[in-house]
Amino acid sequence: MQTDMPTVVTRFAPSPTEFLHIGGPRTVLYNWLLARHFGGKFLLRIEDTDKKRSTNEAIDAILEGMKWLELDWDGDAISQAGRAERHAEIARELLEKGKAYKCFATSEELTAARDAARASGGNFRGDLWRDRDESEAPEGAPYSIRIRMPREGETTISDAVQGKVTVQNSNLDDMIILRSDGTPTYMLAVVVDDHDMGVTHIVRGDDHLNNAFRQHQIYEAMGWTPPVLAHIPLIHGPDGKKLSKRHGALGVEAYRDMGYLPAAMRNYLLRLGWSHGDDEIISTEQAIEWFSLENVGKGAARFDFDKLDNLNGHYIRNLNPDALLSLIRNDLEKEVGHTLETAEEERLIKGLPALAERAKRMPDVTENASLFCNVRPLSLTENAAKALQGDMPALMGKVANELEAVTDWEASVIKAAIFSFAEAEELKLGKVMQPVRAAVTGGRQCGDLVETLEILGQEETIGRLRDLIAA
Ligand code: GLU
Repeated sequence: MQTDMPTVVTRFAPSPTEFLHIGGPRTVLYNWLLARHFGGKFLLRIEDTDKKRSTNEAIDAILEGMKWLELDWDGDAISQAGRAERHAEIARELLEKGKAYKCFATSEELTAARDAARASGGNFRGDLWRDRDESEAPEGAPYSIRIRMPREGETTISDAVQGKVTVQNSNLDDMIILRSDGTPTYMLAVVVDDHDMGVTHIVRGDDHLNNAFRQHQIYEAMGWTPPVLAHIPLIHGPDGKKLSKRHGALGVEAYRDMGYLPAAMRNYLLRLGWSHGDDEIISTEQAIEWFSLENVGKGAARFDFDKLDNLNGHYIRNLNPDALLSLIRNDLEKEVGHTLETAEEERLIKGLPALAERAKRMPDVTENASLFCNVRPLSLTENAAKALQGDMPALMGKVANELEAVTDWEASVIKAAIFSFAEAEELKLGKVMQPVRAAVTGGRQCGDLVETLEILGQEETIGRLRDLIAA
């Protein structure tokens, strides 16, 4: 079927001047999903016009964060600063059309006008030269270019999330679009770039809603079609207040370092402000299929680490053992101090699913995984050492002898051997199992003990039990 739907083009337009907390990645995700849903394009524009405050580190952090989240953009990232000539050209065009005018006011004059407006409770509109002629200015005096805002009537924006929002035009100031040094202002650059890049939909934080009315006037003045706007509510802390660091106002790399998986982050950020019925676990494929702006919530979303942990646990459990192993390999090799040997890898592949079962963040897996490695004598946690005091080492020596006699190293046989040993010693099963667990895991968490012993193998298990006597 032939469709005449225009292609959807979305964009993420970060300013690399300040720390970008988790709200940025959510904006990326929504723009990305919208583009992917419609088979359109998702573009990236770095708003680096503020040369003094923009840093390469901030740009790298943004690109790295997006790559880690697996939210790819189409084409090359565009530098806004590189397009200053084009912005200036549009400012001059607006001047020629009479939609903008030259302002020769000095900064002292502007300050005085601002103070006077404040004192009389009026709006400062920056319009000192709106009705004056250029010929009144001193020869060669510097000037900025200001937009001639409409004074009558009102401007209404139909926002895809906020609905219809209206301002009185009398509230809009004749903002500067080109400074006296010839550089464009942010307000002009955003509009020109979005237009030139063919952006059809803008999803961004609702802190930009006020800018939208001012930007709208540039579209009007140029006779350009404005894009669909969707201003999404900001993310708050669990207490409903502004998001603090403690409550999650961290860069995406901090989440990576805490051991969250990209797929879990995407799922969590998706649900943080968007819903599809009661669905909590939503794969990226489903999200692409289902995403629409209609289901973006109007209320501020609340960041909740517990929910994120639960979702992350789900995604960890769903990783296959090979993927789990490759995720933990670096950290694990660092911890055990050697490159993993084949026997260790084989044990890990068998043992990791049980560790993943209990995990919320990746370190929950990594920290326990060393129990499957060759690290004898095993270091013991305080609790494990306590459980192995007194005559326990001797008892473990006896268990080792018993297990040495097992010919078929398999969980049920190992279990039977320990059972009969406990019976012969007239000990409750727990009195044997508990120190065996401490001796073999060193106090690390594992799944079912006998299954863990089966995975470790006969030689390693016996070795670990006997190490206690040697110690
Ligand atoms: N550069 C702006 C910011 O980082 C975003 C502008 C926009 O999305 O229109 O806040």
